[in-house]
Amino acid sequence: MEDLSKVLIFGIDGLQLSQVIPEKMPNLSKLKSRGTFWSEHHSVFPTVTRVNTVSMLTGCNPGTHGLAGNYVVLRDYDPSEVIPLLQPELEEVTAKIGPVLKVPNIVNIIAKYGLKFAAVNIGSTGNAYLHNYDKSPNGIVIHPEFCIPDTLEQDIQDRFGKWPAKTLYDEDRQEKAMEILLSYVLDELDPSVAMFWSNNPDTVQHASPVGGQMSDKALSIVDNQIGKLSRYIDANKNMNILFVSDHGYSTIKDTVNIADNIKKEMVHLIPDIDQILIAPNGGSVLFYINPPDVKVIETLIDYLIQQPWCGNLLTSSKFGDIEGSVDLGITGLEGERSPDLVMSFRWENLMNEFSVPGVAYNSGGVKGNGLHGSMGFSEQHCTLIGFGPDFHEGIEVKIPSGNIDVAPTVLDLIGINDTFKMDGRVLSEGLVGRNLSSSEILKKEIFKERKIHSTQYRQQIDISEYKGSIYIDQGKVF
Ligand SMILES: [Zn+2]
Repeated sequence: MEDLSKVLIFGIDGLQLSQVIPEKMPNLSKLKSRGTFWSEHHSVFPTVTRVNTVSMLTGCNPGTHGLAGNYVVLRDYDPSEVIPLLQPELEEVTAKIGPVLKVPNIVNIIAKYGLKFAAVNIGSTGNAYLHNYDKSPNGIVIHPEFCIPDTLEQDIQDRFGKWPAKTLYDEDRQEKAMEILLSYVLDELDPSVAMFWSNNPDTVQHASPVGGQMSDKALSIVDNQIGKLSRYIDANKNMNILFVSDHGYSTIKDTVNIADNIKKEMVHLIPDIDQILIAPNGGSVLFYINPPDVKVIETLIDYLIQQPWCGNLLTSSKFGDIEGSVDLGITGLEGERSPDLVMSFRWENLMNEFSVPGVAYNSGGVKGNGLHGSMGFSEQHCTLIGFGPDFHEGIEVKIPSGNIDVAPTVLDLIGINDTFKMDGRVLSEGLVGRNLSSSEILKKEIFKERKIHSTQYRQQIDISEYKGSIYIDQGKVF
């Protein structure tokens, strides 16, 4: 297997395809024009980071891999508590129930072949932890706050010095992370699969308007690092790189304190209001009814559809067909740990002050700043660019792709054709010398409606299907 090329997954949190232009990101734009770029790339829903990075590394939809948000209830851990998926909580979950994911990820799979994975991640601790969630000895994870294995933390500090303090732009951290990636991970560890995760432009876009000066500055800092990588790969031509983002972005139309609203306004409708566990995830909200109760779901839906901020509603198939609501299974969210009800906040195809499309309500943040998490078009669509010897040069692929396709494609690139079941597919259309069996792109529109008093609620979800993999194009309400 020694002749096979290596793969680097280069994750750029919250990067939108419209931002990959020479004026904003000259280095990445150059690689995009020299490589393969998928112009119909999709996030999985909810469009938040941990759900999507896990989908990238498992090749599975959230219903299959078991994590439906950054904030969730894990019934098998504690059915009565909403927890954030950060490293300390994930350690506790693992200590109690074992591996937190329901499927193997790329580290587990390549470990069977004696191959190695190594990542440098300056995003959240939870995101980094989930790269190697069961601490396989074949997977190294380097994060400013911890390492897997933990003995590596001191070695990294001895060699590269202390991590700089966290700042909004994190320019110093970006620089150090790139230094560790190039001189340690790629040059010395030389794993079959390497990964880099940049927290920006996401962090800055949460704190400022998308398309404004601040988000452009964040892009330019990330792009400078890509410039260094670009010079490195000019001298190391056997490496394939997938530049990928977890989700797109919208602008906050207004904020909604959903937990307060529900507790205040529904307390007289539901005998035990604490039966409803609410996990806000930016532009979407996960509801868990403990214990499950279809009457509570119906009452909750009747309340939600009367609110101006209510967008798409989806319910677990364990409750059967619920009027006006879409089955979670249709979007890949049904599974052992499914939330009982999921609401995307209402998204609209309007522009912000910088002509960036997409506005939506959000469970936090500041009006006018960026948000994601909803099923809106501008969040469901994100970035994927392939560059290296196995990718076609200078082509645009219009066939739908998604974050679930990252793992199967990476495995194909390093020569592993395992028979396990992933929800994603190998992106053969962008790879040199693959057998291309043509297939049809199926477009589905799911429409549901429900009426209460004078409120007529109508929702629609658009889905593309290609070779059995499903991609959510957008959700909207009328
Ligand atoms: Zn974010």
